[in-house]
Amino acid sequence: MRFEVLTIFPNIIKAYLSEGILKRAIERGVFEVDIINIRDFTTDKHRQVDDYPYGGGAGMVMKPEPIFRAMDHLKRDGKKRYVLLLSPSGRVFNQALAEEYAERFECLTLISGRYEGVDERVKTIVDDEVSIGDYVLTGGELPALVIIDAVARLLPGTVGDMMSVSEESFTSGILEYPQYTRPAEFRGLKVPEVLLSGNHEEIRRWRRKEALRKTLNRRPDLLEKIKLSDEDLRLIQEIREEENGPDQSSRRDISEGDT
Ligand code: SAM
Repeated sequence: MRFEVLTIFPNIIKAYLSEGILKRAIERGVFEVDIINIRDFTTDKHRQVDDYPYGGGAGMVMKPEPIFRAMDHLKRDGKKRYVLLLSPSGRVFNQALAEEYAERFECLTLISGRYEGVDERVKTIVDDEVSIGDYVLTGGELPALVIIDAVARLLPGTVGDMMSVSEESFTSGILEYPQYTRPAEFRGLKVPEVLLSGNHEEIRRWRRKEALRKTLNRRPDLLEKIKLSDEDLRLIQEIREEENGPDQSSRRDISEGDT
């Protein structure tokens, strides 16, 4: 897979990709990242990428011409690409979108804005607008990296053990179970006994229950979106009894009818 990032700050992208798992995956050829400096596609001697907004108002807007020229340059290879404009007004990125991009596209092109954003006409050459959350950053470089990171780690070969990816938060529709490593006891804090037992079935059940507990407490909205198994429903009942006592008659049950 190839990612292309259009930016006026290429070093931000380079810096992040020059460490850790993503660096090694690039070296192994699992995916590649082309960083395109939008400033290279200006034609004036000041290499200006922004200008005042028509109609007045605060801040500057990114000019359309350098971005269009950069895209024309990329499209000369005739290859298929899916073009995303990073924008706080876009649809909100999540794990399901990361999975879709990893499965569907050979090449993902990410246009990073700066200043007050990009000239509206840029939207005519993009396939979608994507936001990484309901807050405003100074530029689209971090959002581009967030998307590259989330998509790239789903590609076979990026993360050593694909099981670790498939068991993570959101992948199965709920949050991940708590993780522990050695030592078994640290400053009086003990690792749950079951994890030391070697009983794989007990460990699986405990992890599922704790994942459900975390999701129930922090993100109950996620439980509304997935199909819960009979075991899940039993585990949820157990969790409620543990946390609120056995009398649950007044509480609304999450049952299969709700999912
Ligand atoms: N004036 C714009 C608005 O109100 O929507 C905000 C522009 S922001 C300061 C500059 C650039 O940062 C945007 O063009 C976009 O590329 C990027 N950006 C900022 N926040 C973002 C977010 N939550 N998701 C994706 N991109 C974002």
